Amino acid sequence: FDMFVLAFVERVFRPTYRKDDFVLGKKLGEGAFGVVYRVSLANKPASKREGDLVLKKATEYGAVEIWMNERVRRACANSCADFVYGFLESSSKKRGEYWLVWRFEGEATLADLMQSKEFPYNVETMILGEVQDLPKGLERENKIIQTVMRQVLFALDGLHSTGIVHRDIKPQNVIFSEGSRTFKIIDLGAAADLRVGINYIPKEFLLDPRYAAPEQYIMSTQTPSAPSAPVAAALSPVLWQMNLPDRFDIYSAGLIFLQMAFPALRSDNGLIQFNRQLKRCGYDLEAWRKSVEPRAGADLRRGFELLDLDGGIGWELLTSMVRYKARQRISAKAALAYPYFDSEGLLDLSFMQ
Ligand code: ADP
Ligand code: MG
Repeated sequence: FDMFVLAFVERVFRPTYRKDDFVLGKKLGEGAFGVVYRVSLANKPASKREGDLVLKKATEYGAVEIWMNERVRRACANSCADFVYGFLESSSKKRGEYWLVWRFEGEATLADLMQSKEFPYNVETMILGEVQDLPKGLERENKIIQTVMRQVLFALDGLHSTGIVHRDIKPQNVIFSEGSRTFKIIDLGAAADLRVGINYIPKEFLLDPRYAAPEQYIMSTQTPSAPSAPVAAALSPVLWQMNLPDRFDIYSAGLIFLQMAFPALRSDNGLIQFNRQLKRCGYDLEAWRKSVEPRAGADLRRGFELLDLDGGIGWELLTSMVRYKARQRISAKAALAYPYFDSEGLLDLSFMQ
């Protein structure tokens, strides 16, 4: 079967939707660039409308987000929330809105789960679907955190192998998919596809400063403007190698790892304070550790203890992700091959992907 035939068949048989097809439910989020609702299809009987879809009404960046989601759906579907459809809705307002529809993946983002006092045991229950009757302790927590990190890195590796940099990786944009019992990435509104030059010029103002790597520009300033699509397609593997833009996401993922290991860094204030300390240490995690460990409270010490398990392999991985220089950071693929993930982790269901 030819790829073009497949694409054509898919286009013809995929359902298309319009504004009136949706019944709005609860508001799930509201950012500067759009509003997100839980919705269901209007043609379903009222009893079956459990809000099994999610709708984002997006402003200017909606077109890019639709493009990214279409690409992900074809190239690395398991990395992100299941995209259903996107279109320009221009019936009501003078300026159109982009409407994006996904399958409702689940109630909780990693941010929600990390806010719970039970974390990481609440995640273990969700991944395994049952409460474990085992003693609580560092080893078990480490296994759960390791499983979450593996799933996040797996999803990131999918995106990066497709040529997409997410640029807004944070716990709020990692959703637990109740269907596959794994974590997936959402919110491709700030993403860049370097292979075809879509959204090539970084929009720094879109980046969340709490999770952003220290480099200002994701591509070096020596590549000042977006080349035309065919030129970019030819150049981009080279540019990718030169600039390693994917390592921006790795830094953010490293901060998620850090927040999972250290409860004190899970709050906004905790993270902001950490960022200030790390900056003062020249973005050198080892230096940060040396500066805080001697006067660390029980909570911080426990985090170091967790990362020091198995000969400190977790700490080693963390310090390979959170580094000042992008090119010194490990890639998602290399991180997945890291011995930290050798021990079994939770018996999760990601093998089904
Ligand atoms: P924003 O631009 O507002 O950050 P997001 O795409 O991150 O938009 O979505 C906002 C919130 O909506 C998320 O934090 C999550 O709680 C919820 N959400 C988004 N997509 C889904 C989905 N596919 N399934 C379930 N919840 C979702
Ligand atoms: Mg978001």
